Amino acid sequence: AFDETGKIWFNGELVDWKDAQIHVLSHVVHYGSSVFEGIRCYDTENGPAVFRLKDHMKRLEDSAKVYRMDIPYTRNELCEAVKDTININNIRSCYIRPVVFRGYKELGVYPMNCPIETVIAVWAWGQYLGEDALEQGIDVCTSSWRKMAPDTMPNLAKAGSNYMNSQLAKIEATTNGYKESIMLNYEGTVGEGTGENIFFVEDGELYTPDIGSSVLKGITRNTIITIAEDLGYKVREETIPRERLYTADEVFFSGTAAELSPIRSIDKIQIGKGKRGPVTKEIQDSLFDIVNNKVEDKYGWLDFI
Ligand code: PMP
Repeated sequence: AFDETGKIWFNGELVDWKDAQIHVLSHVVHYGSSVFEGIRCYDTENGPAVFRLKDHMKRLEDSAKVYRMDIPYTRNELCEAVKDTININNIRSCYIRPVVFRGYKELGVYPMNCPIETVIAVWAWGQYLGEDALEQGIDVCTSSWRKMAPDTMPNLAKAGSNYMNSQLAKIEATTNGYKESIMLNYEGTVGEGTGENIFFVEDGELYTPDIGSSVLKGITRNTIITIAEDLGYKVREETIPRERLYTADEVFFSGTAAELSPIRSIDKIQIGKGKRGPVTKEIQDSLFDIVNNKVEDKYGWLDFI
C-alpha cells in the first residue's frame, strides 16, 4: 500500500509524495512514452537488501536505449538513488518502481523534444497474485489477446505501453474469474503472463519459452534458471506449444512482484496434482533463502542498504 506521508525521488530530489506530479500534457500521458523497472527489497537478518539492483538498472537502460531515451543519470547514481529513497522512507521491505518518461513540452507523436524525467518510488507490496498464491497455486487461463508481434512493439523493452496489451489480458482473466492470463505470442506458442515469465516441469526437467518467444528477459527468470541448474536440473529455453503446459507435471510463474507462484490449473484443466509440486517447492524455497539472505549470497545478488 502507498504511504502518502513518504517521499519520492523525482529528477534527483526527494520530494513529498503529494508533490511528485506531472503536467496533464506530458508526452507520456498521451503516447505511453515510458520505460520502467520493478525491483524488490527484502528485510533480511543482515538488514534490508535490494535484489539484483544493478541488473534491473541495466535492463532499464536497455529499455530506454530501444526508445532512444537518454537517461540523465548513471547506473551507479540510480542505484544510489534507490537506496536513498528506501532510507528516507524508513522502509525495510518494499517494491521499488523506477520509471523514466517523456515529459511536458509539446505534443505530437515525435517525442525527442520532450524532457526525460526520472522517478523512483517505493512502497510495501505483499503477494502480487493473492495471499495464498505462493503455497496453494493459482487458477489461470489462456488469453485471447496475444503478445505483440516482434516487429510491432519490442517485447524485450519494459515499456509502459506494452502493459496496455497486458491489461487487456489481465482484465479478461479477472472478468472470467481467473487470477492471471497466459499470453501466447504471434506464432501462437507460449509467451508469458501479463507481468510474469512462465516455467514448466516435465520428467524432472525445466522448460521456459526462449527469449525469441516475445517475452521479457525476466531477472527472476534468470535467477530461477541459475538456481535450478545449481540444484542439478536441466533447464531448456525453447518454443513451447500451449498444450505442453496442460500435460506438464508442474507449472509456475516467475517475476519480481509474483516471485515464484505455482499454477494449479490452466483453462480449468488441472496441472499435475492440482497443487504446488515438489520441484516448484524446492526452487521456491531456494529462491526465498537467497533473497532473504538465509544462505550465503554466492552470486552477489544482494545490495545491502
Ligand atoms: N514478463 C513481464 C511482461 C513482466 O512485466 C515481468 C515483470 N517485470 C516479468 C516478465 C518478470 O520479470 P522480472 O523477473 O524481471 O520481474
